[in-house]
Amino acid sequence: MSAVPLRNDQPAINGPRSITVLGATGSIGDSTMDLLRLTPDRYQVEALTAHSNVEGLAKLAREFNARFAAIADPARLDDLKEALSGTGIACGAGESAIIEAAARPADWLMAAVSGAAGLKPTLAAVDRGTTIALANKECLVCAGDFFMQRAVDAGARILPADSEHNALFQALSSGNRAELTRVIITASGGPFRTWAAADIEQATLEQALKHPNWSMGQKITIDSASMMNKGLEVIEAAYLFALSPDQIDVLVHPQSIVHGLVEFSDRSVVAQLGSPDMRIPIAHCLGWPDRIVGPSTRLDLAKIGQLTFEAPDFERFPGLRLAFEALRTGQGATTVFNAANEIAVAAFIGKKIRFGAIARLVEATLEQWVRAGNLAPLSSADDAIAVDHNARKLAASLLPQIAAKAS
Ligand code: NDP
Ligand code: MG
Repeated sequence: MSAVPLRNDQPAINGPRSITVLGATGSIGDSTMDLLRLTPDRYQVEALTAHSNVEGLAKLAREFNARFAAIADPARLDDLKEALSGTGIACGAGESAIIEAAARPADWLMAAVSGAAGLKPTLAAVDRGTTIALANKECLVCAGDFFMQRAVDAGARILPADSEHNALFQALSSGNRAELTRVIITASGGPFRTWAAADIEQATLEQALKHPNWSMGQKITIDSASMMNKGLEVIEAAYLFALSPDQIDVLVHPQSIVHGLVEFSDRSVVAQLGSPDMRIPIAHCLGWPDRIVGPSTRLDLAKIGQLTFEAPDFERFPGLRLAFEALRTGQGATTVFNAANEIAVAAFIGKKIRFGAIARLVEATLEQWVRAGNLAPLSSADDAIAVDHNARKLAASLLPQIAAKAS
């Protein structure tokens, strides 16, 4: 049994649904709130959370008359209280308040915190056995070993919100699990798709932040430029749908119209298409098992004219190769991959390393981790968080030598 429901055979939901959004002030949070705004009578907002953006959080909490608002930065509690004064909206601060927000009863929860910080709160929602739209891919990359099993045990439904995985989720309904032979996730190739390796090595932050198709948060935009994001998504797909690395292919598709394809045993390939707008996969999760009316632009294939596809280049984009290697290694290696990448991206943003050094830091951290004999299966959130923490320390310690080394 999978925690991702593979067929739309669930009863429709009647009456207003209670909704919680973790990471409400971010890019995915913004798209989610936009969808709720279309038919506010259908939803009662239970809880909203943010990291430090008190103003944005309070504005949303007031607009949607949320019951609870939580800010992760404990230093901002007084500001939040003040911003919500006179509303009757309860609030809290710190990691425990984010977990409380996730644990409060809600029919549907959007998990859109960025990074490994999303793991514990999302697990709190999993343990309630609720329906979770999962954008926070780090939950699976850091803790996929047990995250999906825990969802099955608790009776939680995981609806993939990441566009490629949502595409696979939709396409999978065309057959059953035993008939599936392969999934293909597409990648735009990012702003450096056609660049020579030497130019990618020297790319600036401004260049990395210029995504050709998608408008997203800063971290994921840089990950798209390095194709680390596609690596994270390969790992995400493996855990979500219980696939082996050999059953997952990546296809570069610069127009970002075809998001994911599923191949079945008869060699039929079923794909999902749509404009590059995160409100489409989020709307699918929000409406599921029905479909809601979405605000996104209608797909006009005649106007687009051509859809093109290329094989990914594992040489110029070594992050993709490293993700497959980490997935094959298992036993916490994907947690290390993610942790090292987070340190590397922060160092790149802080101008401490060159763009090309991001993958080198991830590779060096993984190598050292394996050489030190640290691999072990993860069976709890604490295990995953400990590996994440130690891998970050290791990556940070390797940073100076990677920064000093020429490519
Ligand atoms: P953003 O950086 O735009 O937003 C992140 C949200 O999480 C914000 O609300 C932020 O609050 C909050 N947050 C950040 N750190 C913490 C923390 N330590 N504790 C609690 N809350 C925190 O990210 P995105 O919306 O782009 O991405 C969110 C997740 O969705 C990521 O895992 C990403 O990989 C995934 N995703 C994103 C896509 C996209 O199109 N953006 C597509 C597919 C997946 P504050 O505003 O106060 O900083
Ligand atoms: Mg994606």
